Amino acid sequence: MAKKTIRDIQVKGKKVLVRVDFNVPLKNGEISDENRIVQALPTIEYILTQGGKAIVFSHLGRVKDESDKASNSLAVVAKRLSELLNKEVTFVPETRGKVLEDAINKLKDGEILMFENTRFEDLNGKKESKNDPELGKYWASLGDVFVNDAFGTAHRDAASNVGIAANIKDTVAGFLLEKEINFIGGTLENPERPFVAILGGAKVSDKIEVIKNLLKVADKVLIGGGMAYTFFKAQGYEIGNSLLEADKVDLAKELLELANGKIVLGEDVITAKAFDPESEKNVRNVTGIPADEMGMDIGPRTIALFESFIATAKTVVWNGPLGVFEFPRFAEGTRSIAQAITEIKDQATTIIGGGDSAAAVIQFGLADGFTHISTGGGASLEYLEGKLLPGIECVDNK
Ligand code: ADP
Ligand code: MG
Repeated sequence: MAKKTIRDIQVKGKKVLVRVDFNVPLKNGEISDENRIVQALPTIEYILTQGGKAIVFSHLGRVKDESDKASNSLAVVAKRLSELLNKEVTFVPETRGKVLEDAINKLKDGEILMFENTRFEDLNGKKESKNDPELGKYWASLGDVFVNDAFGTAHRDAASNVGIAANIKDTVAGFLLEKEINFIGGTLENPERPFVAILGGAKVSDKIEVIKNLLKVADKVLIGGGMAYTFFKAQGYEIGNSLLEADKVDLAKELLELANGKIVLGEDVITAKAFDPESEKNVRNVTGIPADEMGMDIGPRTIALFESFIATAKTVVWNGPLGVFEFPRFAEGTRSIAQAITEIKDQATTIIGGGDSAAAVIQFGLADGFTHISTGGGASLEYLEGKLLPGIECVDNK
């Protein structure tokens, strides 16, 4: 179902509540990755140039007791937002009350304020995270319309998304949420073929539903990473000390049967004697992994095989690194596959959904070669599982 976006409403002169996902990583009080702020700029800039009054808010980190407040204040994010917009952003260090309400009433058309971490309300009985009806109603009362642009939180029903939407007349998607819906949702619904899915990461158990869902819609499902070893085991191979989920071997067998040839596991792997960045690397056939070695990456023949499927693809969806890419010595598979995907950019839609896979591609400096890198970790995973996300469902249909 097509969702209303910010283009479908008038914002001029209106108090526009804007839920963004500014849950950025902080190191020693500094923002270490501002991608989520940058990705939200088009929506905020649009509201301001259209003459709306933007009331921006987000959660940040986890707030379990009073002592978590200082390290999870959005003040530092408001400051950075102001620099990026090149415009004053009034920061209100409250989540409710007279100070906030007065600040909102003082806003002129085209001005912006940001209020404090929505999860400060969790100290008050998990009101934000458990979608307390009073809180959603209160926040809704502060604005005229609601723009949800927080894809990273779309898999949770919180007071600051679903709760507000239930209590306000218009709820529309911002440009980032729209982009995620079009690229992930749209691609799964109606992919150009051949559609190649690439799955990796640590555990089968994290990705069961994603595998099942992608088997339904993709033409090939290439599997690497730690989870491949449970599949190798299911095929009857010995996998040495590689990552194994023994209780998922039967499931892996079932998936292989269900896949009817769609799953491609590769032919060789890179192994090491220890889970260590300095450990020597060996190339092994999947049929010959020594008992004292563990699989750390996909091997060269597997890279070539995966590349041959990617070369002709019209759609690629990738979730999960293909090896222990955090260790440069074992990053070759992930890097080569990322590179191969960037080479088909002109002919295909290429999407990354997954926190670590996105981080890997950004780290390799290859991010520009992809059509879309999802800003959601958990949210993109659940979206790829084929689930309905509450933060999308609560947006008005066209
Ligand atoms: P994403 O966040 O992209 O969904 P995951 O969280 O599922 O990805 O998995 C990422 C982790 O998987 C990385 O930390 C990586 O080191 C690990 N990984 C990949 N291949 C292996 C392997 N062969 N053995 C152990 N861990 C692996
Ligand atoms: Mg991850």
